[in-house]
Amino acid sequence: MAEKKHASGIVASGDLTKRVGVEQMRARGVDVEQLIELLIDAAGAEFTTYYYYTILRMYLAGNEDYKEICEDARLEDRSHFELITPRIYELGGSLPRDIRDFADRAGCPDAYLPDPPTAESILSVLLDAERCAVRTWNEVCDLTFGKDPRTYDMASRILQEEIEHEAWFIELLSMERDGDVRPSGHFRRGTPGASPYSKNTGFYNP
Ligand code: ZN
Ligand code: FE
Repeated sequence: MAEKKHASGIVASGDLTKRVGVEQMRARGVDVEQLIELLIDAAGAEFTTYYYYTILRMYLAGNEDYKEICEDARLEDRSHFELITPRIYELGGSLPRDIRDFADRAGCPDAYLPDPPTAESILSVLLDAERCAVRTWNEVCDLTFGKDPRTYDMASRILQEEIEHEAWFIELLSMERDGDVRPSGHFRRGTPGASPYSKNTGFYNP
């Protein structure tokens, strides 16, 4: 009988210390350890952003339109954390045991409430945070494209929304600060933080 070409490989039958999914990535040139560290940093940025956006949103009081859009970005960053975290464990990594370590190693700066907390200054903080996220997920896409379809798919889903978030805050800051109309192409989310690309409930709770 003909040998089945995928019946065996680097990982021996019964070996639980290795993962074929990981060895396949290594064979394609991915530095898996480096990728895990980058994903933990990126997850840390999503998690801390979710926290800081909670505060920023509160201080947009009176600007109810800005508040709603900030809320979508806030909840979608939580979705990004939820989407990418299981992948860290699949790859053999783990979130830091201490949340302080996690916050410290976040890949983006703390999105502190500005002083004074005007709509303009808050929108500037939000925009900078989105831009850091766009750079981060583009890097993950670059490292995984054509080599790790699963991480790439997740990173590109997240990136889709980060690009939208950047466009939203450009639109809002442009009008608030400069009085310039700079449309983002924004459509209202169906429900707050709908996460049209990145929600993981579709994967885990079909
Ligand atoms: Zn995000
Ligand atoms: Fe975002």
